[in-house]
Amino acid sequence: GAKAHGRRTFRFFQPEMDAVARARRQLEFDLRSAIADDAFEIHYQPVVDLRSNKITGCEALLRWRHPTRGMISPGEFIPIAEDTGLINEIGGWTLAAACAEAVQWTDDITLAVNISPVQFRQPTLALLVASVLGSTGLPARRLELEVTEAVLIHDDDAALTTLNQLRALGVRISLDDFGTGYSSLSYLQRFPFDKIKIDRAFVDSIDNADGSTAIIEAVVNIAASRHMTTTAEGVETVRQRDILRALGCTQMQGYLFSPATPAPKFRALLTKHRNTEAA
Ligand code: C2E
Ligand code: MG
Ligand code: MG
Ligand code: MG
Repeated sequence: GAKAHGRRTFRFFQPEMDAVARARRQLEFDLRSAIADDAFEIHYQPVVDLRSNKITGCEALLRWRHPTRGMISPGEFIPIAEDTGLINEIGGWTLAAACAEAVQWTDDITLAVNISPVQFRQPTLALLVASVLGSTGLPARRLELEVTEAVLIHDDDAALTTLNQLRALGVRISLDDFGTGYSSLSYLQRFPFDKIKIDRAFVDSIDNADGSTAIIEAVVNIAASRHMTTTAEGVETVRQRDILRALGCTQMQGYLFSPATPAPKFRALLTKHRNTEAA
């Protein structure tokens, strides 16, 4: 009967579910020692001004070189780091390491660092940022912190306090992945962002003539009216770039220009770009 069948199903699936849970527990365990093991690496993706074609900044993107599984993408390990609270330590390391790297570049470009909602809810976040700026010597105006709308849904007042503390330091705040999740235009009125990052999904569908161009145009206009800039994420084609430029988007980042690369390669890219500009 149903019971027997249910039991059989249970027996059939149990080992697989165990395997998934075991793999996840193993990752969790490995993640705990990843900082000490020097297993994290930060890659930098250039951000390009759509009018001048110059590199005006970059985004720090975390990579985990797992001892047996190879490179694991942040899409896989950041959620685990968030669930376990390890993101606070990992995020602090990333911020400090990225600032220490960026302060060595001769180009006066911005460095964007992603801040998880879990980190954002720490009342000490602004203190941490101030301390990292102090110890690395990176000027506050060169640092951008990227947050998603997820930071805004829990406690508006606490979120606003933290945003204002960070801006008081002279750091800029970007709203990442705009247009995904619980997007609301009212966030743009209530919270003091400096930049909106238009999610790759909109950039992707520019070619589909399904109205995403109109949405991007609306976001660009709202941003401009509130003295915010816009960065398009995931630009992969010349056509996308040209349309974004025509729509008045400020900056772009994406594989068309360059993927995220390790620090030495990024430095070389900066040098090459500088020389190309001069020539
Ligand atoms: P994000 O902050 O929206 O970062 C942009 C993602 O898009 C990156 O993926 C980047 O490599 C990818 N990307 C850039 N250009 C293109 C393109 O032209 N095409 C396509 N298909 N993808 C492109 P990545 O590095 O895998 O990071 C994924 C997400 O993981 C990030 O999304 C961010 O939410 C999170 N993340 C990465 N590093 C950190 C970190 O240090 N701290 C935190 N809290 N989250 C991080
Ligand atoms: Mg980001
Ligand atoms: Mg994004
Ligand atoms: Mg994203």
